[in-house]
Amino acid sequence: MSHDGTASLGLSGIEIDLGPGEPKRVWHYAGLHASEPVRPNAIDVLLTSRDEPGASLFVQGHDFAARLREFAPHLSYRSVRGRRLGQFLLLATMLAVLILVGFAAGWSPIKSVAKTLPENWRQRLGNAARESMTAPHKQCVDADGVTALTHLTERLAKNAPPGTAFNVRVYDWDLMNAFAVPGGQIVLTKGLLEKAETADEVAGVLGHEMGHGIELHPETAILRGIGLATAVQVMLGGGAGGGLANVGLMLAQLGYSRDAERQADQRALELLKEAGIAPKGLGNFFVRVMKMEAQDPSGGNSDAFTWLHTHPPVTERVALVRRQTDYPATPALDVQSWQELKAICKTTAAPEKTEDDG
Ligand SMILES: [Zn+2]
Repeated sequence: MSHDGTASLGLSGIEIDLGPGEPKRVWHYAGLHASEPVRPNAIDVLLTSRDEPGASLFVQGHDFAARLREFAPHLSYRSVRGRRLGQFLLLATMLAVLILVGFAAGWSPIKSVAKTLPENWRQRLGNAARESMTAPHKQCVDADGVTALTHLTERLAKNAPPGTAFNVRVYDWDLMNAFAVPGGQIVLTKGLLEKAETADEVAGVLGHEMGHGIELHPETAILRGIGLATAVQVMLGGGAGGGLANVGLMLAQLGYSRDAERQADQRALELLKEAGIAPKGLGNFFVRVMKMEAQDPSGGNSDAFTWLHTHPPVTERVALVRRQTDYPATPALDVQSWQELKAICKTTAAPEKTEDDG
């Protein structure tokens, strides 16, 4: 809904008058944000304010824009650009040094950079990828289901390498799918929980995605896909920028190499063993999905089989699981927790809005 009114520059902020019946508003200068830096020759400005989240203010006129720059210098072109450029140079230098160190040590440079990405960058990349891949589906947040999921996640992650943390979310999405994005974030779909017959099967899939996370496969794939310089720019540009919107799509399309899939399977088997959960679930799930694919009229080409499409060598993987020697195991979840996990989409929430700290 839009309103016409007048805006003037007061002592502490922009004073907005929308006419009779509307309270006068003040948008304080410090809380203003401009969609575009306000340049010296600007003829209009589009602003948002912490004083009134969700609202925006459009003011036409060169004089207003020019004087606004004096009252709120942080909105001006130069200071925004200067700050960004400074950060960019620092980070670019840091990354260049890291790449050299990586080469000198004979590591894969991309992976060594992925390893040293600051945690908040990984989370920001992860948020952007997850949000773009899961939109417009809602997150499943039924309290009992979340408790069961947390329990399973903690049981599996207990023996993950130090410093590894996982955040697993379920989305109300019929497609059978599971994927890992940067920052240890993992997405499972309602479709996957419905198709799984036991909690052990979900544990196997979750362990596999955790394996990708431990090996930093999502981070590495994104850095490789968009290039380091672009990654730095994209991350400095903020979470809502157009650049990041494509990160998820890219991650979905790139897929991983056979070696990466083997590594993730190997990690999954280790995590399952250390958690005392039988590896058979993972193998069973592969087999059942293969059968479903064979019976599918589209020959397994429908979207319902996304998870296996991004995970090619199925027979080899089933064989790997079957080669595991037996060890004492208990069900991944008790009967009641498993039912609660399956019903996690009983309650849904709108997608979380992640804070962009600029
Ligand atoms: Zn995989």
